[in-house]
Amino acid sequence: MNKKYFKPVFIALGSNLKNPVSQIQQAFNALAKLPGTHLVKCSSLYKSSPIGKIDQPDFINAVAQIETSLQPHDLLTALLDIEHQHGRIRKSLNAPRTLDLDILLYENQQYCDEELTIPHPRMTQRAFVLQPLLEIAPDCYIPGYDDINKLLTACSEQQLERIKTS
Ligand code: AMP
Repeated sequence: MNKKYFKPVFIALGSNLKNPVSQIQQAFNALAKLPGTHLVKCSSLYKSSPIGKIDQPDFINAVAQIETSLQPHDLLTALLDIEHQHGRIRKSLNAPRTLDLDILLYENQQYCDEELTIPHPRMTQRAFVLQPLLEIAPDCYIPGYDDINKLLTACSEQQLERIKTS
């Protein structure tokens, strides 16, 4: 493999409908099958309480590290396609979902257009992203933001439980 073409990327996964644990495990497999992509690491699964719209089931969350030759917009299209295959229906912001896949970090890039913002704009305020990210990449940093441990301390009131899976 020519390292130059494979960029390190972190993806957030979340689900709170239709067997969320299985949705996340299947999504790890789907990431591994993306063209020009290797699945490098998967975090544990975490249970989190909903934020914003609180009258909905708890979420299962995780973070995956991949290496990919896909460009950011092609990767986004591929992730939206996986969400669609998992029956994702977009009703409203913060609505329950079978599967949500977000690009957290793409190399050390900072990028923003009408479709894509990298680093993901809300990742720095979410324990369910920061904790699994730290688990698999303790030395990772978020371009343009404070140290991840400090960011995580700032969201310590958010309920998060690491779960055991068989
Ligand atoms: P949601 O599924 O509610 O997280 O929203 C998905 C939409 O957010 C996508 O269609 C993208 O256009 C937009 N978006 C902006 N930045 C990102 C990102 N870093 N990762 C995934 N989606 C993003």
